[in-house]
Amino acid sequence: MIRHIPTSRFYLLFSLFVLTFFSTAAQTEDFIFADQTFQPGSKSQILIPVKAGNDSTVIPVTVFHGLQKGPVLGIVAGVHGTEYVPILAAQQLAKQLDPKELSGTVILVHMANVEGFLKRSFRVNPLDGKNLNRVFPGSEDGTMTEKIAWTISNKIIPHLNFYVDVHAGDSNNDLRQYSGYYNYFDKPEVSNKAKEMAIAMGFPYIVQFGNEQSLQEESVYTSREAFKQNIPAVDIESGRMGIVEEKYVVRIQDALWSLMQHLEILEGTPDAVENPIVIKKRTNVISENNGFFYSDFTSGDYVKKGIKLGYITDLFGNHLSDVICPVDGVILYKTFNPPIEKGNGLFNIGHLE
Ligand SMILES: [Zn+2]
Repeated sequence: MIRHIPTSRFYLLFSLFVLTFFSTAAQTEDFIFADQTFQPGSKSQILIPVKAGNDSTVIPVTVFHGLQKGPVLGIVAGVHGTEYVPILAAQQLAKQLDPKELSGTVILVHMANVEGFLKRSFRVNPLDGKNLNRVFPGSEDGTMTEKIAWTISNKIIPHLNFYVDVHAGDSNNDLRQYSGYYNYFDKPEVSNKAKEMAIAMGFPYIVQFGNEQSLQEESVYTSREAFKQNIPAVDIESGRMGIVEEKYVVRIQDALWSLMQHLEILEGTPDAVENPIVIKKRTNVISENNGFFYSDFTSGDYVKKGIKLGYITDLFGNHLSDVICPVDGVILYKTFNPPIEKGNGLFNIGHLE
């Protein structure tokens, strides 16, 4: 019957068939990850063992290998063990995601710092006292935190096409939620893809990290390591004060869902924000004293250069110094409770252009 269709029309139909076929191409290959094999349409909970000297831990990961072909997205929560909002969002997302509906693969790290979570250890891993988000790319022969960083850098990130690291304001930290992405000018393609990811997640504030010609120094941060490996990388910051508020858990779930729609891993239209405020520069306001910190400002407040943001007292409550705002901008996060050490951050202020 095909001979009755004019040649041009045949090719048009054929092209349409090819397009349709590849846009929903069935996944035929298994996914090999962490020395295990994952079949199309499968969802698997695995524990990746990590050993350093006499210490050992695990990294809990859910692997979703979709029924259709598509990119590999890595999502990491719990780099900081007492930032519970991202950890709970990851757990909820793992229950919602159906591998049969996915075009691609999702590697969801429920928590990168299990010991920090179990021991309620603020910022660091209690096994070595190190902050995981300060040691990337890590070391194969290092202490536990360095070994976890090495494992993420070498065993997880190389499998990925896109990367998300999810954080919250910790127990000292009143935070205004935002997304952030790595932007270095010698990698415009990677940077632009990351920017599109950050916009797709729907946060009204977007912070650009980097903004330099190229990334020469060590990665230090987990998502900057992904960027160094040419993988578009974004951060989420949602949640505050180390407490669990449902609306911030849901906001992270929605952001990740929207991101997966943007990456066409899930069907549907991403809930991107219309006119995000992009922050290209931030200023840290540092304490010059040990003692008590007082301030009536909260995250999200707009501030002007020269105004008094708060004050520091000694251990008796005697006034030591005022904290004066150095720039015009918006408070992205601040220390909200009294203890403060010399050199600690009081405010992180995003510059508004
Ligand atoms: Zn964090």
